[in-house]
Amino acid sequence: MADRYAVIGHPVAHSKSPWIHAEFARQTHQGLDYARIEAPLDGFERTVEEFRAAGGSGANVTLPFKAQAFLYCKDAVTDRARAVGVVNTLIFEKGAARGDNTDGVGLLRDLTVNLGCKLAGARVLLMGAGGAAQGVLAPLVAAGPRRLVVANRTADKARALARRYGASAGGGYEDLRGEQFDVLLNATSAGLADEAPPLAAGQFASGALAYDMVYGRDTPFLVLARAAGAATHDGIGMLVEQAAESFFVWRGVRPDTAPVVAALRGR
Ligand code: NAP
Repeated sequence: MADRYAVIGHPVAHSKSPWIHAEFARQTHQGLDYARIEAPLDGFERTVEEFRAAGGSGANVTLPFKAQAFLYCKDAVTDRARAVGVVNTLIFEKGAARGDNTDGVGLLRDLTVNLGCKLAGARVLLMGAGGAAQGVLAPLVAAGPRRLVVANRTADKARALARRYGASAGGGYEDLRGEQFDVLLNATSAGLADEAPPLAAGQFASGALAYDMVYGRDTPFLVLARAAGAATHDGIGMLVEQAAESFFVWRGVRPDTAPVVAALRGR
């Protein structure tokens, strides 16, 4: 029987992960099944236990369960998951569950390898203070930017994140007045509501790169960034790169992400 994997979330019907992992499996000749499982909001742990009992080998975890996934296996998490405090990849082996986080490496690989973005020495703005921002902040700090500022609608959350992970500063959007950034990363869900964080055109430095983790749509943030002269990218590359890292963790084989990103863009 093929090894079984799944993405567990709520809602999960929109998830592209089954398609992406099926492509990886086809490309690397790995025999596996990958399903979507919608866990009840109060039933994450029970859902994971049922999937393990049914022979599951591993799972991706998405909204809103990444923090619960960390607690589920907090005695056995990888260093990079411990650094960010949230888990998006579960590995089930010999009766034990291990937790990992591949979002940070997924974003960094998309930015630095696929898009040729230099983070070392850059002025970086990270917008948002939810799970996505938390999942990428530690690797962003480690990439050595000259300045890394976290901004969020609820300013206190950005301040707390910046303090916890050693960013240069954290606060509300009004605190950014007079600052310019080379790399602007939107880790908010504003784009899903057709809204943008309140930035001014003058906050995009000449030659800036603007990245929205929301994927598959031209969000108001990307429209604003393009009008300000920035190069713009959505989060499809991050989505595929974090999936590829999970696949590597589970299978020991690294898939080629470029054709999968291209195919997703064309769908
Ligand atoms: P979350 O935990 O719900 O956090 C949402 C964040 O967005 C909060 O910081 C919230 O600010 C902010 N926000 C929401 N509406 C806003 C608005 N209208 N204006 C300004 N800020 C707003 O969600 P998450 O897990 O961090 O995910 C955020 C987004 O990243 C999602 O849309 C998700 O699809 C995307 N994502 C993509 C990938 C990928 O692989 N491409 C991976 C992970 C996440 P407050 O704190 O003030 O509420």
